[in-house]
Amino acid sequence: MNAFSSLMEITPRPSQVMARGAGSYLWDESGRRYLDFIQGWAVNSLGHCPAEITRVLAAQGSTLITPSPALHNRPQLELAAELVRLSGMQQVHFSNSGAEANEVAIKLARKWGRLHRQGAYRIVTTHNAFHGRTLATMAASGKPGWEALFPPSPDGFSKVPFGDVEAMAAAVDERTVALMVEPIQGEAGVVVPPAGYLQQLRRLADDHGLLLIFDEIQTGVGRTGSIFHWQQSAVQPDVMTLGKGLGAGLPLSATLANGRACCFEFGDQGGTYNGNPLTTAVGRAVLKVVCQPDFLHAVQQREQQLVAGLRALQAQPDTGIKQIRGSGLLYAAVLDGNRAEQVVRTAFAEGLLVNAARPDVVRLMPSLRVSAAEIEQFLEIFAGCAGAR
Ligand SMILES: *Cc1c(COP(=O)(O)O)cnc(C)c1O
Repeated sequence: MNAFSSLMEITPRPSQVMARGAGSYLWDESGRRYLDFIQGWAVNSLGHCPAEITRVLAAQGSTLITPSPALHNRPQLELAAELVRLSGMQQVHFSNSGAEANEVAIKLARKWGRLHRQGAYRIVTTHNAFHGRTLATMAASGKPGWEALFPPSPDGFSKVPFGDVEAMAAAVDERTVALMVEPIQGEAGVVVPPAGYLQQLRRLADDHGLLLIFDEIQTGVGRTGSIFHWQQSAVQPDVMTLGKGLGAGLPLSATLANGRACCFEFGDQGGTYNGNPLTTAVGRAVLKVVCQPDFLHAVQQREQQLVAGLRALQAQPDTGIKQIRGSGLLYAAVLDGNRAEQVVRTAFAEGLLVNAARPDVVRLMPSLRVSAAEIEQFLEIFAGCAGAR
């Protein structure tokens, strides 16, 4: 029996045990340091153990951790008000994970369909989408092979190619209630849709009287250089989900709704931990930092530096980088073959954490507070790893 055998097998992991984090760095139990360009899976938006969050956890943790989901608490009210202000949307429900937030979005759409569209319930989603790992969000996702994993799969989802509005339009019928996309597909390997895609989806939804749902769990809260990615194309959804970066490492997610999509009534949704003051106080602190005047400007500057550096690496034939794509501090290097796992292992041995989002795609999601020196350090290590085969 080894030390790991009491854990269910869900993913292969290196044998090192992680012990401590600070900013862009993570240390294992042996004291080895790693430059972290995964950050808990784009979760630690402010890096590891940021002082603002540690402070809030200590203060809120010694004041009120949870009064019960059936009672109000101040941090939840304030975070909801702030999200409403920033998004121009009207209502918020908090959950604990991205998958749960998307479940809420799906339930809102189905309720809305019952009220306003003669019981329509189908949602058009996209191939290679990732919306979570509950049964319904797996059914909404377009990961190859997932339909066969845990049959029967919940009904009600049609899949079309991402970035293709005509295919989306062709999939709409009288049973359709909503269109649901990630503005940039994250787990699919940071796939950026053609310009105008979000606007075209908005028009399609309006023409057919459908809800438009954006899953901003990976792209939201400053990750792509704006608070929400849709702000860059000025297309407001009817329903939006947030997660990951919103909690800076704590389990916190949110579903926002606007206009007629605000259709939940008492009894429609719940959850023991939803909106607890410990995590919503953290969310409030995260937004406070991300909304500071120069914060997003710095994200954009680091993006420029990262892209310039990656392009320089791409120009060196031995790195085997075919394409660079992404937005803000969510980027991918597409390789000339299925060797991303090899690059990840080589980088790990060199003290750098990056993610193989696809067999040929290395994904980068550093802290939004990554420094210019840390980007330089990343580029230096990555230059020696990208060509690994
Ligand atoms: C990570 C992710 C999810 C799922 O979030 P969990 O917190 O793991 O449940 C859903 N949608 C997108 C776009 C994600 O990146």
